[in-house]
Amino acid sequence: MSEIKRDAFIDGRWVARDARFAVTDPFDDSEIAQVADADDAMVDAAVEAAARAFPAWKRRPAAERGRLLGQVAARMLADERRLADLCTRENGKPLKEAIAEVRYAASFLTWFGGEAERVYGETIPASNAAQRLTVIREAVGPVAVITPWNFPYAMLTRKLGAALAAGCTVVAKPAEATPLGTLALAELCEAVGIPAGVFNVVPSSHGGRIGGRLLAAKAIRKISFTGSTEVGQLIMRNAAADLKRVSLELGGNAPFLVLADADLDAAVAGALVAKFRNSGQTCVAANRFILEAPIAEAFTAKLSAAVAKLVVGRGSDPATDIGPVIDDAAVAKIKRLVEDGVSRGARVVFGAAPAGTSRLIAPVVLAGITPEMALWREEIFGPVIALRTAMDEADAIAQANDTEAGLVAYVYTRDGARQHRVAEALEAGMVGVNEGLVSTAQAPFGGIKHSGLGREGSRHGIDDYTNLKYIATRIG
Ligand code: NAP
Repeated sequence: MSEIKRDAFIDGRWVARDARFAVTDPFDDSEIAQVADADDAMVDAAVEAAARAFPAWKRRPAAERGRLLGQVAARMLADERRLADLCTRENGKPLKEAIAEVRYAASFLTWFGGEAERVYGETIPASNAAQRLTVIREAVGPVAVITPWNFPYAMLTRKLGAALAAGCTVVAKPAEATPLGTLALAELCEAVGIPAGVFNVVPSSHGGRIGGRLLAAKAIRKISFTGSTEVGQLIMRNAAADLKRVSLELGGNAPFLVLADADLDAAVAGALVAKFRNSGQTCVAANRFILEAPIAEAFTAKLSAAVAKLVVGRGSDPATDIGPVIDDAAVAKIKRLVEDGVSRGARVVFGAAPAGTSRLIAPVVLAGITPEMALWREEIFGPVIALRTAMDEADAIAQANDTEAGLVAYVYTRDGARQHRVAEALEAGMVGVNEGLVSTAQAPFGGIKHSGLGREGSRHGIDDYTNLKYIATRIG
């Protein structure tokens, strides 16, 4: 496969622009590529292309749309090392995680490729003998897709797979930090013969402006956004003007409960996965560890011993477990959270508070977290573990739910009844029970409260891209 794509992809063509922005490696700021910086005219052209392509794509048999998605997935897997290298370079994540992301991202295209043929309608028994009532599900129309930098492939394919399977066309705006993966996927879509205008990409260094332009475009009937709660709220407000449909996958503040009867080794293994993927920069990262008092000390010791073995380094080094965080603002935020915690009485029980300006941040474990601390209230998005003790199960649940976020929660307990009781009491869209990794294409991913609206993946994931149309037919 070819060199890195750097231009916008609009109506099946690669479109250059003199104005460009640099995409850099978070490890050392070395430049990877100068990418075309889309302006309003390019956004408008992409929207028009998506609108023109929509009727034919929608009419195309679902099996054909699904087959094309399957072909893109196969190309991704065949080319996974190149795609993973690109991801490690622009995002910084360890190569092994980048490979896992490519596979995970491809699985959404495979899944929705299959679901395309299962967008069933229904018939309803009518109370009037002269009527027949049927319901069909129709593609909503051209969709704007806005994605973050932390999973450049997967956050895209969860939306793209569902949208294209349903018969929608797409204009995608990747994050400024990581547009290269999205452009690489556009190249694969082009290669398998997805028609011009069905998938368009407008990279930009002006996220707010381009997002606003897409929201204002009449032809766009839906916006699907993954990113911060703040921007999600703004998008929902602005989408109201034109009553566009909105799906929002927003920030989390996941509690990770370890109850007194937990298998502590399993809990430590789950904690490492839930905390450190992508250097802690995931929306489903365990943010607040809540430990039932009898096991708090033992769990902290085991966890610290496991954390001590993690290797911090450049993502391209095969030994690396924790790569650089994305940018200087991320470093500053992590330092602020830790300093705030320590100044309010948190104790460093493993590692050291981050110092300096390096984007390589060694893991640190802090105990004695209290609700006043920013570490409790905010998404940490870094390799920092915040521990708090709970008196009992009820206290642990109350602490877990003490947040506006509601994306995911984790609980470790051996007791079967307790597993159900606690999972049902936790205010979150997803719960991992003795499981630190819940994401999979077959399951509905999404949050409640300030963590968003809608679900991605599973048979439900396609619902957000279809409208119900009810047809009443008089037969006599
Ligand atoms: P962000 O700042 O909200 O940016 C996300 C995307 O929105 C980027 O493409 C960004 O473009 C764009 N954007 C920025 N301002 C905009 C505006 N006014 N209108 C429209 N689009 C705008 O979030 P981030 O820092 O990249 O990502 C981290 C956040 O995403 C975390 O809170 C994380 O929890 C959340 N997240 C959630 C999920 C989930 O599934 N729930 C998954 C992954 C991440 P620029 O890059 O050009 O600014």
